[in-house]
Amino acid sequence: MEMIQTPIDLSKDWNARENHRYQDESLISVSDNDTQKIVDKICRHFKLGKYNLRFRGENGGATIWTFSKHIRFSHNPSFVLICHELCHALCRRRYENSKIRHGCKKWETQMKRLIGYCKAKNFWKEEIEKWSIPKPTKPEPTKDELRTLKIEKAKSNIVRYEKKIKMYQRKISKAKRSISMLERFKKR
Ligand SMILES: [Zn+2]
Repeated sequence: MEMIQTPIDLSKDWNARENHRYQDESLISVSDNDTQKIVDKICRHFKLGKYNLRFRGENGGATIWTFSKHIRFSHNPSFVLICHELCHALCRRRYENSKIRHGCKKWETQMKRLIGYCKAKNFWKEEIEKWSIPKPTKPEPTKDELRTLKIEKAKSNIVRYEKKIKMYQRKISKAKRSISMLERFKKR
């Protein structure tokens, strides 16, 4: 994570106004790799389904396709951009098929929910640091270790199968009992 140094251009375009409104969040840029993880986390929280991402260009723009569930971001998007695109998905889910315009009351409500969630998670700053540390690679198990694992697995299978035998034995005796009951009634 690094801070974007470019000054905010407060022209009339929508993105600039949104970046101004959520200034702090617009200054945090997320690497392409971490963006997917953060999008996954937001999507899971707001039950938006899984979105696939692509990255192209550096212009700070993005496009979302809510039907095919993918988003094209420019490289290293800001939190405002991530929330903006997911706001389209959230509005679609929340208000069904109605077209929600940028900046209307409904849009702002959902945008605030998204930003609030990111804030509550502290923009995953701690996690992002952990993600960038390469995981220690586990040494390959030796042949003997593999054998031990297989033995353990076979043993737990036996326990499972034995439980099943008991269950079916109970079922068999229950079925036999009901046969004998029914046959007794038949003879009368
Ligand atoms: Zn938009």
